[in-house]
Amino acid sequence: MSDKILGIHHITAIAGQAQCNYDFYTKVLGLRLVKKTVNFDDPGTYHFYYGNENGSPGTILTFFPWTFVKRGTAGTGMATGIGYSVPAGSLDFWTNRFKENNIKHEQILERFGEILLPFQDPDGLQLNLIISGKEDTRQPWETDEVKKDTATKGFHSITLTLRDMKPTAKVLTDIFGYKLLAQEGNSYRFITDAVDNAAIVDIIEDANGKPGVGAGGTNHHVAFRVKNEEVLMAFREKVAAFGLNITPKIDRNYFFSLYFREPGGVLFEIATDNPGFDADEAVNELGTHLKLPAQYETRRSEIEKMLPELAK
Ligand code: ZN
Repeated sequence: MSDKILGIHHITAIAGQAQCNYDFYTKVLGLRLVKKTVNFDDPGTYHFYYGNENGSPGTILTFFPWTFVKRGTAGTGMATGIGYSVPAGSLDFWTNRFKENNIKHEQILERFGEILLPFQDPDGLQLNLIISGKEDTRQPWETDEVKKDTATKGFHSITLTLRDMKPTAKVLTDIFGYKLLAQEGNSYRFITDAVDNAAIVDIIEDANGKPGVGAGGTNHHVAFRVKNEEVLMAFREKVAAFGLNITPKIDRNYFFSLYFREPGGVLFEIATDNPGFDADEAVNELGTHLKLPAQYETRRSEIEKMLPELAK
């Protein structure tokens, strides 16, 4: 199994104000900030990673917060819905919590036999809390306000919206080892049996849908998980043999990555489990220091001045 794609590794989106993003994800949603670093290509911008206690692959949602970013529009050629797995019976808690915190949410609905609560973060990013039809034994991160019986356990799924699902489905099935599990109208559910969780990709086919505009409140890319660099490079060969352009291996400090744009327009990444988020911080201190990659360490004081202040 270890030479397979192991579901979702992380999802990266674009946010507006850093403080607003931090407050929503750590306080309202109750995630742990597991790494506070900078955008490696633009060190005046933070890169936040939120996840469970250890920052396990399959729990990690990351943001580039740009204070003055315009709001984007979700649409075709984009990941349009982030699904978190939550415990059975928790959706009343979440509905009340979203009401109390003025978080936009919709009515609870059913999809593929599972119930979900759609909501939007303060920048308009679409997320869903989903009661998985399959038991999810992952241990959640707990806070004073979001306890184990309600807390998110990590990803359930990612939803892609595409004009034509077929070319993307082919990447999922022929390269990534996913299978079509079910179809409901124009929604298709793909799943891999290589892992128990974060194993689902839903595709909504919208032939006449407007292309998404990437900016604040939209997803930037979806990263799929592999065990190590050897498997990563084997997938590089497979993607290239499929006729798609793919980057060389890139060191992201906490994982190694490859990027390619799938035929439907979504930026895909493949990322390794190693070395993990405890590579430069102890597990009990994750997210508490500003961590910089080696190339920026000499510019630390300058970079710290450029970054917006972040209150706990
Ligand atoms: Zn990424």
